[in-house]
Amino acid sequence: MHASSSRPLAHPVARARRRLGGWLDHLAPRGCALCGTALAPRAFPAFCTGCLLDLPGARRARCGRCGQPTDAPAPACTACAAEAPSALDATLAAADYAPPLDRVVTALKFGRQLPLARPLGELLAARWAGALQGEPLDCLVPVPLAPGRLAQRGFNQSLEMARAMSAALAHAFEPLPVQPRRLSRLRETPPQAALGLAERRTNLLGCFACSGRLDGLRIGLVDDVMTTGSTVGEAARVLKAAGATRVVALVAARAP
Ligand SMILES: [Zn+2]
Ligand SMILES: [Zn+2]
Repeated sequence: MHASSSRPLAHPVARARRRLGGWLDHLAPRGCALCGTALAPRAFPAFCTGCLLDLPGARRARCGRCGQPTDAPAPACTACAAEAPSALDATLAAADYAPPLDRVVTALKFGRQLPLARPLGELLAARWAGALQGEPLDCLVPVPLAPGRLAQRGFNQSLEMARAMSAALAHAFEPLPVQPRRLSRLRETPPQAALGLAERRTNLLGCFACSGRLDGLRIGLVDDVMTTGSTVGEAARVLKAAGATRVVALVAARAP
């Protein structure tokens, strides 16, 4: 009975596993995203304690506005206090874009290792729960990719991170839904860091579009890496033009 029924079961089980996708992963054993150390099935975020404590810049003080390291925790660094950098109201950076965390980001984006979106999203969830719990958000909006880039990569890493963040918080907080189609990217742009000052000003103009109104919403804008801050700044400007009252950048890694 057992021998004859075990084989036909294989197909439905495989189908269910595919359908349920990440849900089953929550129950399966897994390893630290950096060192592979086995973690408890529901460990959150998916880093071992040692790697979590050693994440680059994870414990340093940051400017609440732009996320750059500061000597002491401050709502705004000297530069932000002198001139607000953009439409962004706040930035939560989980760590610095430096080894070994940069390896995870690179493997996710360029190595197409989609499962790595989950530890990064969970890392954001843990940081947000710890740092910004007093400041509720209404939804998560991922920074979109242009259609060509999306087709090339097959997924948007920021959307996958936002989904993982939302799922990680689902049991402990009010639902924080992901709005994957609110913001779209009309064209790809060269990295700001590669451009001169004059080109930087016009590079991103008109590259994002927002569908529908976001009146009164407080938005968590999710991205994997924040470098100059211009991309999330421009995205925040477009979200606010659509009525958002507050936009907080949630980034896994901040380039110092
Ligand atoms: Zn580890
Ligand atoms: Zn600042």
